[in-house]
Amino acid sequence: MNNVRMDNMSWIEYENRVKAGAVVFLPCGATEQHGPHLPLGTDALLASAISEDVALAINGIVAPALSYGYKSQPKCGGGQHFCGTTSVDGATLTAIVRDAVKEFHRHGVKRLVLVIGHYENQWFVTEGIELALRDIGSDTGLEVMRLEHWEFVNASTLATIFPNGFPGIALEHAAVIETSMMLHYHPDMVALDKIPEHGPAEFPVYDIYPTRIEWVPESGVLSSAKGSTAQKGKLLVDDVVEGISRAVRYEFLLPEAS
Ligand code: ZN
Ligand code: MN
Repeated sequence: MNNVRMDNMSWIEYENRVKAGAVVFLPCGATEQHGPHLPLGTDALLASAISEDVALAINGIVAPALSYGYKSQPKCGGGQHFCGTTSVDGATLTAIVRDAVKEFHRHGVKRLVLVIGHYENQWFVTEGIELALRDIGSDTGLEVMRLEHWEFVNASTLATIFPNGFPGIALEHAAVIETSMMLHYHPDMVALDKIPEHGPAEFPVYDIYPTRIEWVPESGVLSSAKGSTAQKGKLLVDDVVEGISRAVRYEFLLPEAS
């Protein structure tokens, strides 16, 4: 059975699978510029595709992604000044996550995994989980895992993909990792011929508000996406899917791969 998407299931099928103990995945993305070569939905698309691969491996369910994220920051997402970047306040994201976690709990979900695909979301998603668990109470049997998918890329894979040194995940916005993963999952959405030719952005260690938009490359890409390939995407995705599957099995005491 390959249907892991909640939005493609009837409520009866969903209920049966939740009652059988299925792990539910909630991708947490954004609608944010990703340079001239990637779509605005990249963060939600990747978090969803990775969640679907993991759910296939462990017979889980993937809920519809949260597709608006916390405000894009200049040093890791380019910033809020790009047309198309559509963000919500931290309190709004926290409230959505809090409500969604409580709804999954009402459905009877015991094992929930929030898969973050947008760097800026982390603490607001965390706060939503914390507040939901405080509302629900701690003895209900609900456990929630929160993760950032890129943390599961192995050091050896990074060394292979970045022989001259890894620029760091913040500067990887719309760069080799996201572009290669998109070439793996959604090659029809990647415009390789539009990848801009410029080196990595350089930022001071501090921030200034309002944003100094002149610090941010006009393309919205923070380090070059040149050299992105579907093969690199597969290497990255294999690490991430295997690592998340292993973590979920281990923490939630699921049997090993069938
Ligand atoms: Zn992104
Ligand atoms: Mn992002």
